[in-house]
Amino acid sequence: MIERNLESSNMEKKIEKDLLVEVQSLKKYFPIKGGILGRAVGQLKAVDDVSFSIYKGETLGIVGESGSGKSTLGRVMLRLLEPTEGHVIFDGVDISYLSQRKIRPQRGDMQIVFQDPFASLNSKMSVGQLIEEPLLVQGKLSKAERNKLVIAMIGKVGLRSDDRQKYPHEFSGGQRQRISIARALIVNPKFVICDEPVSALDVSIQAQILNLMKDLQEELNLTYLFIAHDLSVVKHISDRVAVMYLGRFVELAPKKELYSNPLHPYTRALLSSIPVIDLNEDSNDKQEKVKLEGDLPSPANPPSGCTFRTRCPQAHDRCVVDRPELIELEKDHFVACHLYTEG
Ligand code: SF4
Repeated sequence: MIERNLESSNMEKKIEKDLLVEVQSLKKYFPIKGGILGRAVGQLKAVDDVSFSIYKGETLGIVGESGSGKSTLGRVMLRLLEPTEGHVIFDGVDISYLSQRKIRPQRGDMQIVFQDPFASLNSKMSVGQLIEEPLLVQGKLSKAERNKLVIAMIGKVGLRSDDRQKYPHEFSGGQRQRISIARALIVNPKFVICDEPVSALDVSIQAQILNLMKDLQEELNLTYLFIAHDLSVVKHISDRVAVMYLGRFVELAPKKELYSNPLHPYTRALLSSIPVIDLNEDSNDKQEKVKLEGDLPSPANPPSGCTFRTRCPQAHDRCVVDRPELIELEKDHFVACHLYTEG
């Protein structure tokens, strides 16, 4: 049983044996250049002091609008982007600042599935070659051993063995995402970041891919970080859900708790925007509806205090000057909002 004792922004509670990933005060700032000399004139704070843990075998969903920093967070965790500050500890090893040579042993254990399978698959390679490629890069197995794994993986993701000879353009979007999943899983990873893997697919196909990912998680003992802009998608696959706004977590809770008892005004607004309510599950149908006004402010020039204050129907004076910290308000339920703190 996975221990669900969760993180606070102070990260004091951990059960070491079940931890897989620990993110500590992670920041990713991009310089904003200007002037004739192209000097840095500011910073875009894409990820701004985020701390959390992921436990073996679970799926942590991260939800936020486009520009909230969720995809950047995933890329920094995999070291596809360099962190500005903070740490990522993967399976007991601090990988935050390891050289690309030293991080190689962890590379195969951490994989990513991207949103757009067509863009992420080389159109000149056959499906068999695409799935085999990560094994070739590792250079550990013979041709016969690689073939055996590729054939098995093609079956696992629901493709036919004769699909090996075909090319990405011969497949539908859902089938191409199956190929991407096979490429990610062929090296037997422990941890997979799923970056909006179903956002580009029709709703009926989304369900098939989500079910496939759930089945593979169980069969292969995988741990997922599942990124989406839609709370209705992560609901079906996540054990816990974090809501991200302008580079920071504003709420984090077990799935059931978050959907039945959302605390942050932003989470409530996101839940209000889900059009279809599943009456068989805990749902937000009893929650007060909150309309989300306006656009996401620029992370290059975020509002002072609480960065959600320009869109929050409950903003008050304190919200202009004080940035709320993520605190554990109820067991395993964290929220960053002055409505729940004295001051
Ligand atoms: Fe709204 Fe203030 Fe809470 Fe921010 S801190 S979410 S502005 S009430």
